[in-house]
Amino acid sequence: MIHNYHTHTYRCGHASGKEEEYIKRAIENGIKYMGFSDHAPFVFPDGYESGFRVPFSQAKDYVLELSKLREKYKNEIDLKIGFEMEYYPSHFNKMLQNIIDLGIEYLILGQHYLYEEHPDGVHSNAATDRVEDLQNYVSCVVKAIESGVFTYVAHPDMVRFTGDVEVYQQEIRQICVASRTFDIPLEINFLGIRDNRNYPNEAFWEIAGQEKSPVTFGFDAHNVESAFDGQSLIKAQKLVDKYNLNYIGIPKLRPVFNGVD
Ligand SMILES: [Zn+2]
Ligand SMILES: [Zn+2]
Repeated sequence: MIHNYHTHTYRCGHASGKEEEYIKRAIENGIKYMGFSDHAPFVFPDGYESGFRVPFSQAKDYVLELSKLREKYKNEIDLKIGFEMEYYPSHFNKMLQNIIDLGIEYLILGQHYLYEEHPDGVHSNAATDRVEDLQNYVSCVVKAIESGVFTYVAHPDMVRFTGDVEVYQQEIRQICVASRTFDIPLEINFLGIRDNRNYPNEAFWEIAGQEKSPVTFGFDAHNVESAFDGQSLIKAQKLVDKYNLNYIGIPKLRPVFNGVD
């Protein structure tokens, strides 16, 4: 594995370490293509700013700092500056415009909420047996894929549905078909492997294998050590073999401005 486009920074409030340390750790372990994709800043119309994102006031600094480091390490690593962002139907155009204004080079989708996070957001990995919760999650992910602005879908299997298995399969298949149709890869998320989370969810990857959806890997580094995660790589490769996944390696970066009217 010589790429990783899923990296956070201390600015989101739940990651640690200096950006430069992440870059050094990646270079030392043979990473050639690296992207930072911290949680995208967003101020809701009523002024609310959630605590897990880069604060809007620090967004320019994020770009500036990474631009400097990109120059410093340009002979050793190809560095890109991006964000991880949700698809919220009622705010998407505004969120996207913010990103474009900042000069961001790519986006990955991280659908962390079943609906919208504010007000009263319910996290996507909160257990639910309500079909409408699953359907809403799936609908947001599919619309995000169709928008054409996301380079890939991070942890597409984050939703934790505890209801009927066939309903789950039927819904998840829509994500996998959209991924294949629009050629937007699905990420096996290494933070989920490291932390023993509800993802990777094998029930999801079984469908992705059947549908031949493109699949990529992401470290989802929130600390320096996981800027290269060789242990989880072994487990991810086993999943690829077990479900005959269409692993594509380095994802093709999608410029964000393509999706804007
Ligand atoms: Zn995070
Ligand atoms: Zn995420």
